Amino acid sequence: MKFIISTSSLQCQIADILPCNNGKKAQLIFALIRAYGLLDYFDHVNDATVATIKDMTKFHTLDYVKHLLTEEFTYNSTEYIEKEDQVLRLAEVARKFYQDSDVEDDNQVLWFDNEYELFRYFKEEFNNANSEIDDVSKLDDKDFTKYGLQHDCPKFPFLSMYLQVIVGGTLSLLQHIDHQTPSIAINWDGGRHHALKHYASGFCYVNDIVLLIQSLRRKGWKRVTYIDFDLHYGDGVAKAFRFSENVQTISVHLYEPGFFPGTGSLEETRNSKQMVNLPVLHGMDDKYLLELISSVITPLIETFNAECIVIQCGSDGLSGDKYNEWQLSIRGLTHAIISIMDMFRDKQVFLLGGGGYNELLVSRFYTYLTSKVLELYGNNISSSIPEDDSEVLLRDHEFIELYKDENYRYWSYDNDGEQKTSLQNDNKKLHIEELKQFYHL
Ligand SMILES: [Zn+2]
Repeated sequence: MKFIISTSSLQCQIADILPCNNGKKAQLIFALIRAYGLLDYFDHVNDATVATIKDMTKFHTLDYVKHLLTEEFTYNSTEYIEKEDQVLRLAEVARKFYQDSDVEDDNQVLWFDNEYELFRYFKEEFNNANSEIDDVSKLDDKDFTKYGLQHDCPKFPFLSMYLQVIVGGTLSLLQHIDHQTPSIAINWDGGRHHALKHYASGFCYVNDIVLLIQSLRRKGWKRVTYIDFDLHYGDGVAKAFRFSENVQTISVHLYEPGFFPGTGSLEETRNSKQMVNLPVLHGMDDKYLLELISSVITPLIETFNAECIVIQCGSDGLSGDKYNEWQLSIRGLTHAIISIMDMFRDKQVFLLGGGGYNELLVSRFYTYLTSKVLELYGNNISSSIPEDDSEVLLRDHEFIELYKDENYRYWSYDNDGEQKTSLQNDNKKLHIEELKQFYHL
C-alpha cells in the first residue's frame, strides 16, 4: 500500500488565494495535519506541482483555458528581475487583494514565508508553463460573461498560479501509482467539482476531478467510480461523464428549490446506475447518510465493479458549516468515507477536498479523516487524535490562537460541544425506499 499526498506550505498558501478560502482554509488544514505528524506516514509528499495548458485542455477548451491563464500579473522573465522584487510583489498584490475584498481582516494568515522557495518556483516553473499564452489578447466584457468569470467566479490576482498549482497537485498524484500496488492519494486543495468544459461556476474554474479521471482512463484503468459528498451537486463531473459507460458518478447533495446549482434531480439520471443522483433535503444527519450508504450507494458501487475510486470529500454538509443545511458530524462523515474506501482496499483510492466554509471546522475534519485513513491500513499512529474525551485540546501549532473562541477543543463541533447545533431533519426513511426502487435495488 502506497500513501501519497499533495501538500506543502507553498501549495496551501497559493490555494488560499481563492477568495472563498477566506485567506486561510488550506493553510489551517496543512498546519493541523502537520501538527499531528501525519505527513510522516506518507510515502510521497508532492510539493506544488504545476499543471500546464496542455494538461487542462484534455477536458477544457483551449480558448477558455487561455483566458483563465491570462492576467495582468503574467509571470515572465522580464517582469521579475530580482528575487526580492518578485517576492515583494507577490505578497503585496495578495495583501492588496485581501484588503480590497470583504474578507474580515482579524484572521489574516496568508504568510508567504518561504521566499527562496517561492522565487525558485516562479523562475523555473511559471515562466515555462506560461510561455504558451503570449498570443492571447485582452479579455473584453463579453468574454467574462461567456466563460462565467463573474459573480462567484471573478478573475482575481494570481488566478493563473492558483489554477496551475491546484490542478497540478491533483494530477501529480498519478506520478506515483501503478497497476500493481494499491494506493491512497490525497489532495485536500482539489475537488473543484462545478467547473464545466468552458465555464466557471461555484468557485470552480478548472475541474481537476474530471482531468484526474480522464488521466486514469488513459493510463489503463478501465472503470472508475466517483462519489461526491459535498453539500452541492457535483454537476461538472456528472455532466462530463454523462454518456461514459466506464465512469460511474454518484452525488449525494441538497436538492431544494433555489439551492445552487439547481440541478441534480432524480429524473435527470434516466434510471441509470452509471450516473446516480441522490438528492436529499435539509437537515441530513449521520444516521441518514450511513443508511443511504448501506442501502443504496454500496450496492450501486458493487454493481459497477470499478478499479479505482475518486471521492470528493466536501465538508460543507458538516454541522457548524456556514451553510447550516446538513448536520453531519466530523466522525460521521469520516466514517461514511472510510466505509466506502474499505470496499476498495486492494485498489486505487483518490481523496479530494471540496466545499467547506468554516475553516476552523474544516481543518479538524481533514486532519481527523487523514488520520483515520492511515489507521485503516494498519498504520499505528503515535499522535492519533483521542476519540472519547470531549475535553481533548488541539495540538499546539502556529495557528492555535485562531481556535481560542472554541477553547482549543478538538471536538467542539461533535459531541455536545458548544458549537454543536441541532437542525430538523426533513429526510424521511421512506425516501431511501424510493431511491432503492428508482435504482432497482
Ligand atoms: Zn459545496
